[in-house]
Amino acid sequence: ARGRVVVVGGGFGGATAARVLHRAGLSLTLVEPAETYFACPFSNEVIAGLRPLSAQAFGYDGLRASGVTVVRSSAEAIDGAARQVRLADGSTLDYDRLILSPGIALRFDALPGYDAAAAERMPHAWKAGAQTELLTRQLAAMPEGGTVVLSVPANPYRCPPGPYERASLIAHFLKTRKPRAKLIVLDAKDTFSKQKLFQQAWAALYPGILDYVPLASGGQVTSVDAKTMTVATDFETYQADVACIIPPQRAAPIAAAAGVADRSGWCPIDPVTFESRLVPDIHVIGDAAIAGAMPKSAFAANAQAKVCAEAVIDLLAGRVPEPPKLVNTCYSLVAPGYGISVAGVYHPDKGVLADVEGAGGTSPVDAPESVRRQEAAYAEDWYRTITQAVFG
Ligand code: FAD
Repeated sequence: ARGRVVVVGGGFGGATAARVLHRAGLSLTLVEPAETYFACPFSNEVIAGLRPLSAQAFGYDGLRASGVTVVRSSAEAIDGAARQVRLADGSTLDYDRLILSPGIALRFDALPGYDAAAAERMPHAWKAGAQTELLTRQLAAMPEGGTVVLSVPANPYRCPPGPYERASLIAHFLKTRKPRAKLIVLDAKDTFSKQKLFQQAWAALYPGILDYVPLASGGQVTSVDAKTMTVATDFETYQADVACIIPPQRAAPIAAAAGVADRSGWCPIDPVTFESRLVPDIHVIGDAAIAGAMPKSAFAANAQAKVCAEAVIDLLAGRVPEPPKLVNTCYSLVAPGYGISVAGVYHPDKGVLADVEGAGGTSPVDAPESVRRQEAAYAEDWYRTITQAVFG
């Protein structure tokens, strides 16, 4: 019984962890309810009509073919004392170590008027799949001269630069397909990832199309009404033809059910092993974890999965895991062929994952078109490489 590992969640974090553990010869089971995983990176391009949703779809046959046991079910309950996972069909899985990578839940209790039913009219599209398709259809069907409203939450949330990439690509869609239409971006904060680069690009590419309203100018959305298609701040009510509402988030429900989420809704972890601070023998990686300075990204989930899986292998063998260094790079497209990026290096410091000073940074603010073109190509290469490595 040395080394029964259960991995919950077959996204970028969980599927990566499963591969590493399997390669090391451990007995492991991956639990994932969906037969098709829809990747979020590049889903903003789908919304802008630049790529089909099918380019985001991945199955689990690759993992199965390499010998990983994939159970198509969802984890309903976790007993940390008995070290047992109960699945939706009532069956149970025993573990010595459990890795959770369940991603996020959209909070339908955080923004007045925005619940699961409202999301069918005002899509968040913050989990790829049906929601991505809905927003894509709404934009394509929008009347000439219409108004799109995009609401952006306060930190922390999945993919810090994602809303601004979405704003850029929706603006590109309007510019090329509905030139009299407008996009209003309402933000619950004043500063954001790659801000200089985004705002420089918006000024150059989308003047008169993209109107950005930060917190300081009254950008925080305080309620929405899906029936009247209105989005309200403390100062103004905006009438939308299409409204994309990205609500506040928390770790997926299984995290709270396992007792590994704290009052913030996210999961505190040890930065060397990703073991939960709240329940022993359960590790949490990816978006659900509180990973200090590391952003919630697919790149980060993949990097954390490798570190966590190696730590689990060490712990099961009675070895002490070495403190890791982790890397993240997030690419964003502001238009086709115009890419920007931010990179960081992280290490455990005083109990959290902290920036390695002087490492990383963003694309240069002043750069020729060729650099932007190159970064757009790197972004494509990254997506191809990571999805191939994870889903095979
Ligand atoms: P997920 O990928 O969400 O996987 C979680 C999995 O767990 C799901 O398959 C789910 O079905 C499963 N699950 C949940 N609950 C259970 C349960 N109880 N039992 C079993 N299974 C369960 N990141 C980048 O690095 N680069 C980008 O360019 C980028 N662009 C993005 C653009 C957008 C619009 C968005 C929304 C996100 C973007 N991201 C990007 C972020 C990236 O998608 C996430 O950070 C990443 O998916 C996190 O991986 P994860 O494994 O934590 O969660």
